[in-house]
Amino acid sequence: MTRSLTILGATGSIGRSTADVVLAHRDEFRVEAVVGGRDAEALAKVARKLGARFAALADEKAGSDLKGALSGTGIAGGAGSSAVIEAAERDAELVLAAISGTAGLRPTHAALKPGRRLALANKESLVCAGAAFMADANRLGVTIMPVDSEHNALDQALAAGRNGDVEKAVITASGGPFRTWTRERIAQASPAEASAHPVWSMGNKINIDSATLMNKGLELIEAHHLFGLEPDRLDVLVHPESIVHGLVQWSDGAVTAGLALPDMKVPIANALRHHERLPMDLPRLDLAAIGRLTFEQPDETRFPCLALARAALRAGGAMPVVLNAANEIAVEAFMTGRIGFYGISECVETVCSTFLKRNNMTVPATVLDALAIDEEARDMARQVLSGPAEAKPLLGAGK
Ligand code: NAD
Ligand code: MG
Repeated sequence: MTRSLTILGATGSIGRSTADVVLAHRDEFRVEAVVGGRDAEALAKVARKLGARFAALADEKAGSDLKGALSGTGIAGGAGSSAVIEAAERDAELVLAAISGTAGLRPTHAALKPGRRLALANKESLVCAGAAFMADANRLGVTIMPVDSEHNALDQALAAGRNGDVEKAVITASGGPFRTWTRERIAQASPAEASAHPVWSMGNKINIDSATLMNKGLELIEAHHLFGLEPDRLDVLVHPESIVHGLVQWSDGAVTAGLALPDMKVPIANALRHHERLPMDLPRLDLAAIGRLTFEQPDETRFPCLALARAALRAGGAMPVVLNAANEIAVEAFMTGRIGFYGISECVETVCSTFLKRNNMTVPATVLDALAIDEEARDMARQVLSGPAEAKPLLGAGK
């Protein structure tokens, strides 16, 4: 049976893997719309390859480039935020939401339509507006299928029992490029070193979040909303081989785990089909060849972002939005060489504690509320980073 599919973030890392899955099953999917950020050529290319009906680019200024790149293809194009929302709202049974960052919040939320299925990669939608997002999805009868590999594994493992019988749900972390580095060496790490992920090939922002372990922290918050599990039932385990992605420990002591080779096409294929299987011609997991799987506790001294994210999850309210916004600004500052590696966690910590003292921390009731808090927290992070000129180069370097 052919299903109509829209891909938000079609030119990114997840978007490209999704295109590969779709191209391997041309008869299964008809692509309604594709969305990209700035690159008109790349968007037109994926739109042509997938035979999409509509292509929307977020960057309004590149609209004429998109029109040019699509001319003669019969594919309609649009640019600007209204075109992106139009793409998200167009009739499609399935939407795969893989825009990166908080830029994904509005389009992903616009994709919540009655009876639709949403394959969700944009974790920020749940981190920033999880309560509102899940409530709207439930009200509209939208099934959310997690694309994030750990959550996809947990989703499959949780199918083995009832949520009330879950003692603990554990997501694994590869540990990132600095897993074995000392704190002193990590403090001096360059953006290039932090971007070199040992296992996964991903977008820039999530690579840095994997190096700080903030990504795992954001994923704990994501898991809390997706599965309705309280913070004390969620945990992280470092597992450098990235074969076991999620584990559920049941009240009888049994453990159900989700395993796969680390290739995002596996969870993407699973999320697109849900409870049925989309056959994939990918290398198979050969445990005998791997021989040994190792696990260790995460070290929150060398990776303070994980502790900050856990604290934000426990604090609840608007704290996860603030954490995420401060982190996005701090990661940008690190990438452009304005702060050191530990400047990221220092900035996040300062912004979170300042916010806690000053502001009303109620849960954002809507996506727009979440975006307003997000803006405020970003401004605060920019202020923290632009502090006294002589102190700036020291932020996070060598401490
Ligand atoms: P990426 O940077 O490679 O791609 C982002 C996509 O979003 C691109 O298509 C880009 O053009 C588009 N985009 C950016 N700004 C936009 C805007 N304002 N409006 C519309 N489109 C915009 O990122 P990625 O690694 O593919 O990650 C995408 C999302 O999936 C993130 O939320 C990330 O946390 C999540 N995720 C990624 C992975 C992975 O393996 N890459 C794994 C799990 C979850
Ligand atoms: Mg993940």
